[in-house]
Amino acid sequence: MGSGKVTDWQGKRVTVAGLGVSGVPAAKVLHGLGAVVTVVNDGDDERARAQAAELEALGITVRLGDGATLPEGTELIVTAPGWKPDKPLFAAAAEAGVPVWGDVELAWQLRGPDAAPWLAVTGTNGKTTTVQMLASILKAAGLRTAAVGNIGVSLLDVVLGEEKYDVLAVELSSYQLHWAPSLRAHSAAVLNLAPDHLDWHGSMEAYAKDKGRIYEGNRVACVYNVADKATEDLVREADVEEGCRAVGFTLGTPAPSQLGVVDGILVDRAFVEDRQKNAQELAEVSDVNPPAPHNIANALAAAALARAFGVPAKAVRDGLRAFRPDAHRIAHVADVDGVAYVDDSKATNTHAAEASLAAYESIVWIAGGLAKGATFDELVAGAAKRLRGVVLIGADRALIREALTRHAPEVPVVDLERTDTGAMRAAVAEARKLAHAGDTVLLAPACASMDMFANYNKRGDAFAEAVRELGEGAGA
Ligand code: ADP
Repeated sequence: MGSGKVTDWQGKRVTVAGLGVSGVPAAKVLHGLGAVVTVVNDGDDERARAQAAELEALGITVRLGDGATLPEGTELIVTAPGWKPDKPLFAAAAEAGVPVWGDVELAWQLRGPDAAPWLAVTGTNGKTTTVQMLASILKAAGLRTAAVGNIGVSLLDVVLGEEKYDVLAVELSSYQLHWAPSLRAHSAAVLNLAPDHLDWHGSMEAYAKDKGRIYEGNRVACVYNVADKATEDLVREADVEEGCRAVGFTLGTPAPSQLGVVDGILVDRAFVEDRQKNAQELAEVSDVNPPAPHNIANALAAAALARAFGVPAKAVRDGLRAFRPDAHRIAHVADVDGVAYVDDSKATNTHAAEASLAAYESIVWIAGGLAKGATFDELVAGAAKRLRGVVLIGADRALIREALTRHAPEVPVVDLERTDTGAMRAAVAEARKLAHAGDTVLLAPACASMDMFANYNKRGDAFAEAVRELGEGAGA
């Protein structure tokens, strides 16, 4: 059993690594197909025991507290995507010549013969937004589609479900790609590449290589970011089907085989007749919601994938107009005294915060949290001239403060020296004092939230609540 398609599961000895969101359904499905399934799991807590009991009742073997030993006779491992490649279980598998699949590979393998093709998206930031824009465009073209994958909708459910699709908009994480050896998308995009999750992948090279897997075997188009050469290099290295094209997206004027922007219009110079001379108008920049530069880039990537699938220009415009971003992604909360308050709590790393800081002219920036090993010099130096002031919260705020001292010494900084949940209300009050009419108070922390909040949603909610209280106080 290599990475080729498996058609007969009867009696196959499959080890499922990890209970949890992908492991439990995978074990049930494989058992249902006739495979002999053993689940191994590192933890042995109450939750794991409850899940184990449920699986054992079906006749599935579960080994709790031992995720390291390869069960005897294993012919295939299906792993939770988060399991690190350097785990002893995988070393044992490599030695025994046992292939390892993740949840995405399993779904890919189990899809039916006339299954919908996949338009796939990865990148360090912007994946969810782009996949949702893509699904919105495909729907506007009258296609049966869904935004699936890393976005919270299980691919396994979708490929095995009753509902018929014409095409799927699939978000893939670098972990999922690492464990998806035979996946072949119709077309795929890598939005950008910045260091992230390096502890998991081991190195930037390994991270980039896993992201690049998304292009392998593409049939129609490999979509890359003209402004991020690393994405173009991945296209060059990929082994694709004959006739598959490299298509760039750019915020500037597009060259032939690119999508870009001319005079406030999104234009396509890739999927048109005679692209040396022609360009097709797709939409206006103001059709993109919100029309921040990084989000226009996301829209162009989504448009490129849709156009690769043959979608007409009008559907791109209609789909972009119909798209509403998820909460906490550059969400405009309120205007108070002529100051806009924007919640980009989802900016949990410096690359994302850089994009949102680039979207406003004069900013009071609320930042800080858990830095996850990041450095802030580049981010602060790039944003310095747009900063009216900064309010710092969270555990690693000193790292940002030091970068501000080095690169933006004239910008006023309020260091709240607080990491309690109530700090957000104080942060918003301080930001209000620093802001002038016409400014934007931007929560784009460049850090994870877990030092102060359960997650980035809660952090964004706390910000929005504090802003609403301000508004009530101001009588706005
Ligand atoms: P992902 O699914 O990759 O985490 P999201 O679409 O949820 O991406 O966006 C996460 C955050 O990343 C947003 O809040 C925004 O700050 C930032 N972001 C979105 N698109 C881009 C982009 N193309 N480049 C840089 N940052 C981006």
